[in-house]
Amino acid sequence: MDVERKLAILADAAKYDASCASSGTEKRDSSDGKGMGSTAPGMGICHSYAPDGRCISLLKVLLTNACNYDCLYCVNRSSSNVPRARFTSDEVVKLTLDFYRRNYIEGLFLSSGIIRSADYTMEQVVSVARKLREQHHFRGYIHLKTIPEADDALITEAGKYADRLSINIEVPEEDSLARLAPEKNVRAIRRTMGRLRLKLDEAQEDQATATKAKPPRFAPAGQSTQMIVGADTASDKTILDTSANLYGSYKLKRVYYSAFSPIPDSSRALPLSPPPLVREHRLYQADWLMRFYGFNADEIVDQTQGMLSLEIDPKLDWALRHRDRFPLDIATASREDLLRVPGFGTKAVDRIIATRRVTSIRAADLARLHVPAKKALPFIVLSDFKPSPHQLDDARLAERFKPKAEQLGFGF
Ligand code: SF4
Repeated sequence: MDVERKLAILADAAKYDASCASSGTEKRDSSDGKGMGSTAPGMGICHSYAPDGRCISLLKVLLTNACNYDCLYCVNRSSSNVPRARFTSDEVVKLTLDFYRRNYIEGLFLSSGIIRSADYTMEQVVSVARKLREQHHFRGYIHLKTIPEADDALITEAGKYADRLSINIEVPEEDSLARLAPEKNVRAIRRTMGRLRLKLDEAQEDQATATKAKPPRFAPAGQSTQMIVGADTASDKTILDTSANLYGSYKLKRVYYSAFSPIPDSSRALPLSPPPLVREHRLYQADWLMRFYGFNADEIVDQTQGMLSLEIDPKLDWALRHRDRFPLDIATASREDLLRVPGFGTKAVDRIIATRRVTSIRAADLARLHVPAKKALPFIVLSDFKPSPHQLDDARLAERFKPKAEQLGFGF
């Protein structure tokens, strides 16, 4: 099979993995004339998206889509009837360098089905990164998928070459994982995440205490994971509780949410249709609230429903359920409270705090502060504006923010 055909199969097989964003790594470049490529910390690496909404800025491929495991939700499972292919490590190295030279990509995201054993597969994955870094002095971004059962020495070596390592938690509940991916072991997944956390902490401490000698690196862009949404009956509350636990226990950089895509010849244990894509979007918004806006998982989701609203964003939904906390006078409110106002992003809050030190803020200033007035005004007091008390109590307030209902077509 030629490399082009392998690429078609193995890039397509990798598209279900959402965890490929690449911000937060260390700075490397080749402006000294040595090596090839660069990373751009802080700004992250530019992303582009395939028509199905998935990130393709990195060369995202599997080493092989053959797999010993039979995870029901996976198109590469052993019982799947898809064409199989396998790259050699040299082929992936060459493809990465060729694409990099042509400016198609800024790095590599490499995963693999499990063949022979966890150690054998992990060694193959690591060998690609080792050759790129040591033989070709590649300085672009590398994200390696880690196999939880692999030997600790291989995982340590992966961290030496990769910017980011990830292990997919797959589904939020242990029971579902046992049902949908019987060969996977949730304890091994969590144990390896814990080991990665320790190594990341150690590397960070070494960096902080290093004087002259450069301490050994370990995955400077941290670890991430992915959860499939809608392959089982887990509620958004369960998903967000799991994410909060993963962020807290293993200091993950990101949890990625990937809406389940029905696959050919799938098991009856799986739903026939995918969840609405907007559910994945709402989970990302809720995740953002936990990481940057000071929200706890258990206050984001309406506890009686267990699900995020599909019609309005989670912060607006929270504000509508907590109207007693509004309107908020933005001349005096704390940063924590301002972050809870619908439509206020973190940068807008910083701009508001800087502006109010020198002048009072009027309704006309909101556009300059990049705040969507329609969303924010019912919840705030400005120097020249106060919402009417009836407006905030009005049961129809929520309706104002929901998308207008449209009559469905008849299909003819
Ligand atoms: S281990 Fe499971 S999820 Fe990973 S490639 Fe194999 S079948 Fe797919």
